[in-house]
Amino acid sequence: MADTVPPQTDAPPPTRHAEFYFDVEGTDVFLVQNTLFRVHRPLLVMKSTVFENMFALPTATHKDGDDSLIDDVEGRTDAKPIHLPQVMERDFSFLLAGFIYARWLQPPQAVEDYIGALKLATMWEMHDARQAVIWQLEQYHSQAFKPIRKLEVARLYSVPSLAAPAFRIMARRRISDLSLEDISSIGIPTFIILSQISEEMQSERKLVARMAPPMCDPHTSCDDHARCAKEWEEAWWNQIAPIILHPNPMYELSFAWGAEQVVSILRLPRMTPGCKEAMLQMIRDGQGFKGEQNFIEKGVERMNKLLYSP
Ligand SMILES: [Zn+2]
Repeated sequence: MADTVPPQTDAPPPTRHAEFYFDVEGTDVFLVQNTLFRVHRPLLVMKSTVFENMFALPTATHKDGDDSLIDDVEGRTDAKPIHLPQVMERDFSFLLAGFIYARWLQPPQAVEDYIGALKLATMWEMHDARQAVIWQLEQYHSQAFKPIRKLEVARLYSVPSLAAPAFRIMARRRISDLSLEDISSIGIPTFIILSQISEEMQSERKLVARMAPPMCDPHTSCDDHARCAKEWEEAWWNQIAPIILHPNPMYELSFAWGAEQVVSILRLPRMTPGCKEAMLQMIRDGQGFKGEQNFIEKGVERMNKLLYSP
């Protein structure tokens, strides 16, 4: 058998893949971009519903009454491979290595390699491989796998477990910082939901900033509770409200850590220690900073319902 197929165009002839070309029984030849793969049909059939159906179809070997066309069936020779259009050679070899032939892939692998494998595993209905790839992708933190890309991948290949954590991060960012390209990546429905909860969270911030938590009852050791109340209200207005409403997200109070942050910031020198401790405890126990998280979780629910419900 020839090592290469005679070129039909100006393109160089396809070459055999160095690792995934097994010249043995039970294999089929595939052409991916300009590389020939020869891999085990039973493995593909076992792992993929699409390949199972494809190979279950009768092949038109004896068309026109010619019995000698056995080599003419696609996939038997380099000269007539099964062409897999719109597949990248790099994605196919990564999928084969990691999820079909179970080769050891030294971590960390590039996140885009797993995304390429996810694309193919989804397209070819390789359920086990898809789950394994998704598990790998879930391990990447947002530095290596940016939330915008994560939302895009989740949307393209229908993976809600990638969408939710990315959505939670994006919900705490300024919606106005998103470029048109970002919006097109995450998709219009997710963008609209993010915009809605961003507005809700801004209203929530104004509400929380405006209302200092009500004063507790005087501690048994307190001799001037009116002074405590004045100190508390002033501290809220001067120390906390400005950072709740800070125009720069770098300096604004993070509601995710709101209670702890407020407790660590507040300076209340003129309050009776007993009253001060009671107030800080009330902040720690309170629901004042939970509102934002609730909005975000409702946003996740809305997104899941819209994009990922069967
Ligand atoms: Zn007091």
